[in-house]
Amino acid sequence: MKHQSINKIELEDGSNIAVIGGGPAGSFFTYYALGFAQRLGIQITIDVYEAKNFGKIGAGGCNHCGGIISESLVQKLSVDGILIPKQVIQKSINSYTLHIEHGKAIIQTPSQEHRIVSVFRGCGPKGCTGQPGRSFDNYLLGLCEKKGANIIRKRVSGLERGENGVLVKLEKDTKEYDFVVGGVGLGKKSLNMFKEICPEFEPPKMTRAYIGEISMKKEDISSHFGSSMHVFLLDVPKVTFGALIPKENFVTLVLLGNDINEEVVHRFLDEEKVKTLFPDSMVLKYSLLCKCFPFINIKEAMSPYSDRVVLIGDSASSKLYKNGIGAAYITGRAAAKAAVFEGIDKRSLESVYAPVCKDLDRDNRVGKFIFFITRMIQKNSLLKKGLLRTVIKEQNSDRSKFHMSLALWDVFTGSEGYRNIFKRFLSLSLFFAYIRNIFSSVVFPKELHQKTNSNGIGHLYGNGEVIIKQGSLGDCLYVIQEGRVEVVLENNNEEVKIAELGKSEFFGEMGLFESDVRSCTVRALGEAQILTIDKKNFYESIQNDASLAYRLLEKISHRLREANKKL
Ligand SMILES: Cc1cc2nc3c(=O)[nH]c(=O)nc-3n(C[C@H](O)[C@H](O)[C@H](O)COP(=O)(O)OP(=O)(O)OC[C@H]3O[C@@H](n4cnc5c(N)ncnc54)[C@H](O)[C@@H]3O)c2cc1C
Repeated sequence: MKHQSINKIELEDGSNIAVIGGGPAGSFFTYYALGFAQRLGIQITIDVYEAKNFGKIGAGGCNHCGGIISESLVQKLSVDGILIPKQVIQKSINSYTLHIEHGKAIIQTPSQEHRIVSVFRGCGPKGCTGQPGRSFDNYLLGLCEKKGANIIRKRVSGLERGENGVLVKLEKDTKEYDFVVGGVGLGKKSLNMFKEICPEFEPPKMTRAYIGEISMKKEDISSHFGSSMHVFLLDVPKVTFGALIPKENFVTLVLLGNDINEEVVHRFLDEEKVKTLFPDSMVLKYSLLCKCFPFINIKEAMSPYSDRVVLIGDSASSKLYKNGIGAAYITGRAAAKAAVFEGIDKRSLESVYAPVCKDLDRDNRVGKFIFFITRMIQKNSLLKKGLLRTVIKEQNSDRSKFHMSLALWDVFTGSEGYRNIFKRFLSLSLFFAYIRNIFSSVVFPKELHQKTNSNGIGHLYGNGEVIIKQGSLGDCLYVIQEGRVEVVLENNNEEVKIAELGKSEFFGEMGLFESDVRSCTVRALGEAQILTIDKKNFYESIQNDASLAYRLLEKISHRLREANKKL
């Protein structure tokens, strides 16, 4: 072990490191430290101590988590050559569906790619058939083993300063290491072990969250949830954020907030917007096969480093409410870089590792402010309606207007730093669009519906949504693919319904012949899938099939007669 000055301690050939905790932070540290040391040409050994067996089914074999691997982490890992294998991926996610009491909006991935995946941290929840190969944490530990680390499936029971290093105590054994890395998550006993040898270390603050695994048939998950992560901004006390994450045979329920307990979970499950997502026959509280109330990090640790010791991942700094695995990657990799290239003494870790933690902590302060605003919106139905309206309007328009959608996408996915998200929210056009939509929610209280990319042809209009507005300009024809519409004539603020049309019928034909305004309003009656046919395509069709013109004239004449009768 090299001592360059009084305080400087560096790793050298033959140095040994104990990593306590084989979760993502411990694995990322190990993987990168071995890689960096190889690059520098020094031989180090790393023993990873992990108390859990990730090959076990149920809570005992899992590091409780929603299992979303963020867009940014998927990309960073790919760049580093870590490609998450297919058997580990439960589902790839391509959209977020935002639910409030008044409706829902689907936020499509801005990249148009499936770049977010859901995984199981362990082998799977209670009630599933065990497949150790699908555990994300096992996969990461496997990568470390391939790089040369020793994985020791044992719990560390104590730490003590030794003459030239740190003593790691097991039930029947003690071993001295040059450097000890703590990736022990939020286990209080394990964090206290570190406090005993690092008096300045103050463990992170935490609160209770909730995870429940709902068993469902694969086909039901596809038809009810699709490839979308469902997030809820419902006014349920203590719940800041609720999400349903689809996996292959399970849907993971995650509740974050302030000390979530069983009563809060039942209130959430009783919400209409939550229940309607599941098949009618399902009683949710009896379908939760595996559940737990794990701690989540809400404030960073103080001084997570000392001579020969560093803490990483949840034990040091995480990302508030989001992308904890991404933060474990950032801190694990940064600690590896500091230890291999700079040194393992307090001053070296302070100069290279601490700024990375501080950056996460500063970002979380902005995150706290964003969640404070979110909670205000969550409690106010008008603000929520305005939010939903803004997103739906954006998603129905072209992508250049996706300001709110992009900001929310980043909040939900956790891929972007909170400071950047905050900057997105500062856009003036977004602010005015939001205010306009809050105002519209009062003046036009009817629910807006999103045009979804359903499998059908054309656009899906929601109940009551206007397809043609009387008095507007238009030169296209509409053909009903599914559902029904009503045609109404507005006169002196009164409406006369002149027709109801169904599947394969058309409307808007007068716009094809006259350059005049629309003579009637047409609205969807229930959901209606409508195909728009523009003038050019219509004339081409008539050229190909002249009888189409005859059928059209026949229909127009019949409609005129019906309208005359009604008027
Ligand atoms: C409800 C909830 C939902 C979440 N959802 C997501 C999500 O969807 N996506 C996401 O990115 N993040 C999510 N997170 C955060 C994420 O789970 C954590 O940030 C991440 O697991 C931190 O990794 P870590 O390695 O620091 O700690 P952990 O994953 O907790 O790993 C610590 C490991 O140390 C081991 N250990 C502890 N003490 C000892 C000891 N004495 N000896 C040996 N081994 C020991 C433990 O067994 C464990 O395996 C969620 C968290 C919660 C609470």
